[in-house]
Amino acid sequence: MKRNRERMVRDQIQARGISNPLVLQAMLNVPRHLFVQEALRAQAYGDHAVPIGHGQTISQPYIVALMSEILEPAPGVSVLEIGTGSGYQAAILAEMGMDVSSVERIKALHFAARKLLDSLRYFKVRLKLDDGTVGWAEYAPFDRIIVTAGGPEIPEPLVAQLADPGIMAIPVGRSRRQQELVVIRKQHGKTTLERRGGVAFVDLVGTHGW
Ligand code: SAH
Repeated sequence: MKRNRERMVRDQIQARGISNPLVLQAMLNVPRHLFVQEALRAQAYGDHAVPIGHGQTISQPYIVALMSEILEPAPGVSVLEIGTGSGYQAAILAEMGMDVSSVERIKALHFAARKLLDSLRYFKVRLKLDDGTVGWAEYAPFDRIIVTAGGPEIPEPLVAQLADPGIMAIPVGRSRRQQELVVIRKQHGKTTLERRGGVAFVDLVGTHGW
C-alpha cells in the first residue's frame, strides 16, 4: 500500500504542483485505504472521490492535498474541520502536527471516524456530532477552518470563529455539487476572499447550509 501512496503522491499531487513537504509526507504516511469501505479498498488510491456510505464521499487525494496546502499547515496550529466523514482529512491534518477539531452531522460516520482515528493513534483529534455550520464555539477562535462539504453561502459563524490571522478554505456554490473553492483570509482586522476554481463536494446540510 505504501507503493500505492508513493505513486499517488507523485502522479496526482506533485504532478499538479503541490510541493509543501508537510502535506506530501502526510499523504504518504496516512493509510487512505483504511478510510474507505472494505469492498472499495482497491479504488482508494485512484484519482477520484470514493463513496464512504450514507451518500457521502472521501475527497479525491489531490483535493485533500490542495486544501491542506492552502491552509499553510504548521505544527501546533489549530484547525476546525466541518465534515469529518471518513476522518481522512482530519488524519492528514493531525499527521502534520495540527491541533484538530472536526464536526460531523451523521452519527454513524462520526462514530466510525472516532474508532478508526483511535486505532491509528490519532487520539488528540477532537470530534463532535453536530451541525458544523454553526462552528464549535467552545474551542474558537481557530487559526484555520476547512469545510469539506459545499453549501450555498459562507456560514457567518465560521468567519466569526476564524482567528486573526487566519485562513479558511470552503467550497461554495449556488447549485448542488457544483462549487467554487473559496479561500478567506483574516489579517489585521480585514477579511479578504479569493476564488480558486471549480470543485464538486457533497452537500453541506445545516443552519447555514442547504
Ligand atoms: N473530510 C471528509 C469528507 C467527507 S464528505 C473525509 O476526509 O472523508 C463531507 C461530510 O460532511 C459528510 O460526511 C457529511 O455528512 C458532512 N456534513 C455535511 N453537512 C454538515 C454539517 N452541517 N455539519 C457537519 N458535517 C456535515
